[in-house]
Amino acid sequence: MSKISLKAMKHSYLAEPGEDADWALRDIDIEWSDGGAYALLGPSGCGKTTLLNIISGLLRPTRGKVLFGDEDVTEVGPERRNIAQVFQFPVVYDTMTVYDNLAFPLRNRGFAEPDIEIRVRQTAQMLDLEERLFTKAAGLTADAKQKISLGRGLIRPDVNAILFDEPLTVIDPHLKWVLRSKLKELHRQIGSTMIYVTHDQTEALTFADQVVVMHDGTVVQSGTPIELFEAPRHTFVGHFIGSPGMNLLPCQVKNGVPYFFKNKIKTVSKSLASAKGASLQIGVRPEFIAFSEKGIPVQIVKVSDTGRYRIVETRHEDTMIKLLAMEGQEIPQGGAHIQFDPAFTRIYADGWAVGEERA
Ligand code: ADP
Ligand code: MG
Repeated sequence: MSKISLKAMKHSYLAEPGEDADWALRDIDIEWSDGGAYALLGPSGCGKTTLLNIISGLLRPTRGKVLFGDEDVTEVGPERRNIAQVFQFPVVYDTMTVYDNLAFPLRNRGFAEPDIEIRVRQTAQMLDLEERLFTKAAGLTADAKQKISLGRGLIRPDVNAILFDEPLTVIDPHLKWVLRSKLKELHRQIGSTMIYVTHDQTEALTFADQVVVMHDGTVVQSGTPIELFEAPRHTFVGHFIGSPGMNLLPCQVKNGVPYFFKNKIKTVSKSLASAKGASLQIGVRPEFIAFSEKGIPVQIVKVSDTGRYRIVETRHEDTMIKLLAMEGQEIPQGGAHIQFDPAFTRIYADGWAVGEERA
């Protein structure tokens, strides 16, 4: 096993790419340490599968390098990279039994039958497939087939990494929840580097220690779930992660001080001068706004109950601001005042947090 690095990577499916939109991936520099649990999170079409296929060697990047440890493997074919990949839809041999499907990757690499049997049984046990070991895959449900695919990805002891490409897509919602926690547990047991691709923030945040958020072919932030929540580097991270997402409010700077309409706003963002000419927004999550004696005057427009907390929609001038009220907390009627927690309030210039390093 080894560290995986992508350096100055770009990829286009076009023969002669020019402008940004021609690139499926741009400016990708990522390092994944050995044994980590990573997620790659972003909406459909942002380049996640392209990135995985570049790591496994199914695709050769237009520019840049792939390194395993210090070895440049950019030109090395998939079979020599020693990567296990689980795809969105089951890849199983219908005419084979569950046992033979699981054994296949090991037989392929010349493992001895007694060793194969041990690993097949262990893997089947981890995925609750033991009772079906000698059933032909053809008769199984989509769920069970995808479990076999997961098993085939997890069974080899000698891989550099296991890549999962939205592996729970075909799984029914209840089992999804079970498998999601199971994969996390399997990562602890197996200890291989795992890269888990998904468009679902809950899947990403429960599985991974480190989440890479992608948008339009590029990485907007890489961080722990807490970092992504507390300090979004980009407005995309703010609204894609969180439920509801971060408030993005109009901002004006006078004499170096940020204002939301006529209200001075205290933030962690420094050196606003550097943002001159850019389109500015104030970003603050609903979790970091509270009712207060003084502050920004608002009208309460709507309260919705989600069970654990209530989402309060308020309005100042023509702008809606959402905040959360915990259970038991009193919500004023009609007019009220709110305050933003300065430690979690940022200024964004053209989408990027002012004065903070980019991804
Ligand atoms: P994701 O997995 O995040 O949904 P993809 O990596 O599949 O994203 O796709 C990224 C971009 O590349 C999309 O615009 C998609 O249309 C394009 N793309 C993906 N595969 C191909 C292909 N084989 N040929 C041409 N364009 C492709
Ligand atoms: Mg995909």
